Amino acid sequence: MDLVSLQRCEQYDEALLNERLVALLQPMGGIERFVSPGQRVLLKPNLLAGKPPEAAVTTHPALVKALIDLLHQAGAEVLVGDSPGLGSFERVAEKTGIRHAVEAAGGQLIPFGETRRVGTTGTFRQLELATAYLNADLVINLPKLKTHEMMTLTCGVKNLYGTVVGAAKAGLHLTAGHSKELFAGLLLEIALARPVALTIVDAIVAMEGDGPNSGTPRQLGLLLAGENMVAVDTVAGRLAGIPPQLLSVELEARRRGLSGTELDQISVVGDLALLAANPPFALPQGLDVQFGLPVFLKGLLRNQLAPVPVANKEQCTLCGVCRDACPPEAITITKNALKVDSGRCIRCWCCRELCPQHAMEVQRSLLLRLLERLR
Ligand code: SF4
Ligand code: SF4
Repeated sequence: MDLVSLQRCEQYDEALLNERLVALLQPMGGIERFVSPGQRVLLKPNLLAGKPPEAAVTTHPALVKALIDLLHQAGAEVLVGDSPGLGSFERVAEKTGIRHAVEAAGGQLIPFGETRRVGTTGTFRQLELATAYLNADLVINLPKLKTHEMMTLTCGVKNLYGTVVGAAKAGLHLTAGHSKELFAGLLLEIALARPVALTIVDAIVAMEGDGPNSGTPRQLGLLLAGENMVAVDTVAGRLAGIPPQLLSVELEARRRGLSGTELDQISVVGDLALLAANPPFALPQGLDVQFGLPVFLKGLLRNQLAPVPVANKEQCTLCGVCRDACPPEAITITKNALKVDSGRCIRCWCCRELCPQHAMEVQRSLLLRLLERLR
């Protein structure tokens, strides 16, 4: 049975984090069960964009520092790496406070750059992932719990999309982003391409609403950990109060027969009452909610039923970040206007995720709003 450990931790206080991290890992045998002296351990936090820690977009630097300290006590050498969605690794590490935290703890920052091809079982067969990630003796996944406009939730599995380096992310979005099921399968194949020893989730201040970049910080006061990240994500989804039918990764993991998708088959250690204690997270506006319509009708009405990204003219600076990131090249910018070709748009929401001005809004058709009222 998969084990997921829950631990209350109300704030990013150094002494509190040190104590709660030890307590969090104790049911799994402590950090020493995973790490041997001299091993090179890679931490993979969520470093989506260069936002300050209080924006709750990225894994909090205080948690990263506390974990580095714990790993050093176990005799490990610690590397911290990622490939941000927006901006250079150096700039993102600086703005998020990660550079300072890692240097203060005596760890080493390692931008993901070089890649190596790995075989996967399933649809994609071969994937190019960061060499530093593949070569580490041991990986600890350090996601932030956030809502996500395309996948509803980002936690352990989705966090490893950062091991796809730079522009290759957009390429894979183009290949798989038109279908949530296919994209969830891709995420699972990436996550399983190399074993990750542990997933430790920063859910002290999570994010709800228009995550993963423009949502609202949500105090949850929790740390989660487990060896099976699918099980960790399942528990995280229940903590966020999100209906399982909206969690594409969980649905796809179940379809593939992976363990950790059924709560009654997960041993949750900690305060079980926490699972029911939280009001549900606000969902992202761009979420493509299904209405139980027949497939042929959904296909015919695709453009009427799916929300469309539209730039807010007051906020948009026509900087071009969204156009350059858009996998199917559905965005064009002229001298003073931005247009989205809704026929080409695959609703991956990369434009909303990456817009530095939070200017990309969600437009719903009359039919969609009517159906939502009738639900
Ligand atoms: S990224 Fe944002 S500000 Fe820049 S062009 Fe797109 S919508 Fe406008
Ligand atoms: S317009 Fe936005 S949501 Fe549509 S495909 Fe491009 S990046 Fe994705």
